Amino acid sequence: MKHTSFAKRLNMLNATSNLTFESAAAASLALQPDAPLFCFSATQLCERALVFLKGFPGETTFAVKANSSPQVIKVLAEAGINAWDVASVHEMAMVSKIVSMARFHYHNPVKSRREISDAYKIYKCQRYVVDCREELAKIADIVGPAKNIEIAVRFVLPRERGSSAHDFSTKFGAPDYICVELLKQVVALGYTPLLTFHPGSQCTEPRNYVRHIEAAARIAKTASVTISKLNVGGGFPANYVLSTAPEPQVFFKAIEKSVLKAFGKENRPALECEPGRGLVATCMSLLTRVKLVCTDGDDIFINDGVYGGLMEYMQVPDLEPPFRVIRDGKVIEGDAKSFKVFGPTCDPLDVLPHRLDILATLREDDYIEFGSLGAYGLATMTNFNGYGGNAIVAVDQAFAL
Ligand SMILES: *Cc1c(COP(=O)(O)O)cnc(C)c1O
Repeated sequence: MKHTSFAKRLNMLNATSNLTFESAAAASLALQPDAPLFCFSATQLCERALVFLKGFPGETTFAVKANSSPQVIKVLAEAGINAWDVASVHEMAMVSKIVSMARFHYHNPVKSRREISDAYKIYKCQRYVVDCREELAKIADIVGPAKNIEIAVRFVLPRERGSSAHDFSTKFGAPDYICVELLKQVVALGYTPLLTFHPGSQCTEPRNYVRHIEAAARIAKTASVTISKLNVGGGFPANYVLSTAPEPQVFFKAIEKSVLKAFGKENRPALECEPGRGLVATCMSLLTRVKLVCTDGDDIFINDGVYGGLMEYMQVPDLEPPFRVIRDGKVIEGDAKSFKVFGPTCDPLDVLPHRLDILATLREDDYIEFGSLGAYGLATMTNFNGYGGNAIVAVDQAFAL
């Protein structure tokens, strides 16, 4: 093994596709990867999917943008996910390669005419989201008076402090009075009206779903429109070092209860959710390698960073992933020291947002495994400076909090 290149070793691995490692530590020993490596646990993903599929009081779909790797799509489809929240036609193409007859929810509020047309004609998409009159007009132009088209009107509420780590209220969603008009127009065009929102990613407060559900009932009532479905978005949290997630059941119960209360038994819409992070965060860890330990200033350089799998951590420092040091195939514990952690590119921005307390005896060629990177890790990786390895290996257990 020693003289074989990493790429060759991975090819050997792919050739024996049933080869699975117990953990990232075992993979590090066998492969000695010099490029960053994602370690994926299908079991963990399947278990998490079943929590949503069994527990959520409606249909669970998956927000493909959080992790569009074929392995993930395949496991989710096998677990029982039937509909896919996509941000682009390209995502429809990726999912279609793995799942035949996939049902798509095109929930990006802004779509070009060409994208709407491709989604409708090629991928038979019957669900679109709008938060603006002009977007609805585009869809009506292209799709015409088609039956069975569902239009989800996306509304937004002013943000409450501390309710989510990643604010989603600044780009999409229309205020109440516009949504009232949009719902009426959707009905006038002969389409089926829905409402949707996104409470912000890593939403740790069930109350935040509740106030959106109350707003949805208000909007539907003001418009005198009965909505067939309410999509409560993503936002379901995962555990990170600085952000603790309540159990999914806490959210499911709060959602179910508030829908009944806000809409009443008669007018209660069917429910949908479209988690990204909440489904996939725990199924992958990222194995990185230490390239240099520089004792002046206690700087370390690792082979992945904010242009790779750790981009979200730079954007939202609250989403600090857990990490551990691996040497000779074993997790090493011991006294810690504060290090400044740089990524591999020559860009000064390529540094983690916090100093990290890492094993004081850390040395070159040790591995650092970052956990809970199944969501927005692999997905946002770039090839900047010629880095950004995106190899994935299968493990029984992926490191997560
Ligand atoms: C990103 C996104 C999601 C997933 O959000 P998470 O916070 O990862 O669950 C769901 N729906 C829409 C429309 C999105 O843009």
